[in-house]
Amino acid sequence: NCTRTHPSFALLWYTSSACLQKMEAKTLADRPIRVRYAPSPTGHLHIGNARTALFNYLFARHNKGTLVLRIEDTDTKRNVADGEKSQMDNLHWLGIDWDEGPDKGGDFGPYRQSERKDIYDKLIKQLVDKGFAYESYRTEEELKADREAQKARHEMPHYEYEYEGMSEAEKADAIAAAKAKGLQPVIRFHIPTDKTYEWNDIVKGKISIDANTLGGDFVIQKRDGMPTYNFAVVVDDHLMEISHVLRGDDHIANTPKQLAIYDAFGWEPPIFGHMTLIINGATGKKLSKRDETVLQFIEQYRELGYLPDAMFNFITLLGWSPVGEDEIFTKKEFIKQFDPKRLSKSPARFDQKKLEWVNNQYIKAKQKTNPNELMSLSLANLIEDGKIQSDPDPKTIEWARQLISLYTDQMSYTAQISKLADIFFDKATDLTDDERKELADDNAKPVIEAFAKKIRALDTFDAYSIGHIVNEVKQETQVKGRKLYMPIRIAATLRMHGPQLAETIELMGRDQVLKNVEIVTSQL
Ligand code: GLU
Repeated sequence: NCTRTHPSFALLWYTSSACLQKMEAKTLADRPIRVRYAPSPTGHLHIGNARTALFNYLFARHNKGTLVLRIEDTDTKRNVADGEKSQMDNLHWLGIDWDEGPDKGGDFGPYRQSERKDIYDKLIKQLVDKGFAYESYRTEEELKADREAQKARHEMPHYEYEYEGMSEAEKADAIAAAKAKGLQPVIRFHIPTDKTYEWNDIVKGKISIDANTLGGDFVIQKRDGMPTYNFAVVVDDHLMEISHVLRGDDHIANTPKQLAIYDAFGWEPPIFGHMTLIINGATGKKLSKRDETVLQFIEQYRELGYLPDAMFNFITLLGWSPVGEDEIFTKKEFIKQFDPKRLSKSPARFDQKKLEWVNNQYIKAKQKTNPNELMSLSLANLIEDGKIQSDPDPKTIEWARQLISLYTDQMSYTAQISKLADIFFDKATDLTDDERKELADDNAKPVIEAFAKKIRALDTFDAYSIGHIVNEVKQETQVKGRKLYMPIRIAATLRMHGPQLAETIELMGRDQVLKNVEIVTSQL
């Protein structure tokens, strides 16, 4: 059962309260700030991981500390090709850089766990030699049977010590017998029982976890010889002199296991901060990778034409709040303000509408500072959607430039351009009921006729002259306001809504406008 003890090892443990005091004695100011972002290259950069990276980045930069990028690739079955590269590319795209890492080097490398196997092997051997860890030969089938029996007894699933009640000699015999059968062992770490692990979490405050709830002795080295996450993370955080571990709160249950390993080596643990989970703002449920209602990978936003600074801004506000009510900050301002004490204790709501709003703010600002960037993003979207042929000629590019700037203010992300500007690409011919209502007025026909006549006769077909003839139509027909503009807009563009009228008509071109007028007048 779970409450068994290992008498021969009981004396070796620190008491948890002594451990806690040691942690408290060291304040932030006492040690150089070294933090890490430690992705497993099992897929593309996820919003949740991007947030972890970002908070570590801000914390490091705010404190003039060091950010380490460490690749945790020991779960070889789950690694994906390009996983590491995709993580790095997307971090760079977001504007996050690091000081040490597999691509940068540093004094604490190698920075890929798969290249640190010798280090882990040596330390695992030390634990085995000192009796903190042992070879476990229980097979997967036996473990499964144990779990089923536990379930039937309404017990929490846990590992049952396979050498229970055996003397050292009997244990050695059991191991020799298993070896003779050719069984491959895992190495398990003895979790002391009747002990409480405690730490002061920067985000959550004091956390206490009873060792009896941890599921028993856990694996630190797998059958393939690779260390498990819970072991390698402790070794690396210690050897890399990590001062603070800021990570998602899905790791809270791992922290006591890691503290047990710190204890076994007599190492001082870092300061932990576990960030709250992210929930889907629309459903209130934990954001899971299977939730298809929300795009969750940075790359997907990148492809839609979200701007990196906007993503940086939005993600930082997921679970961290600045002083005051402002919501738009530069990276520099975030670095200056970043204080982990303002990390929220309650779940962060992922609100798609807010992200769109934030990105629209950045798009509008970019239109003033660097319209070319927006232009090339939107142009790529138009080409991808087949609205403009690839390799456009200079005239088409200039046309697209004007079109894009006409819609910039309305864009939540640049891939919306094809839909926003659909009047230029999809030729709708039937008027909607609302449009017919607008045209039901007696004045609609004379307004449209006068407008068409002037459009035909216009010398210079540009927005300025078009604005001028709209005014002339107003003088001639004595119709104004909505009754003037709506019929003209609908006749010229076949839509009730759109950006500035004269500019839209110019971009549409005289031929198309006259065709549209014909379509509309034939339905009057
Ligand atoms: N490789 C772990 C993960 O991606 C890192 C967890 C940690 O920060 O300790 O979840």
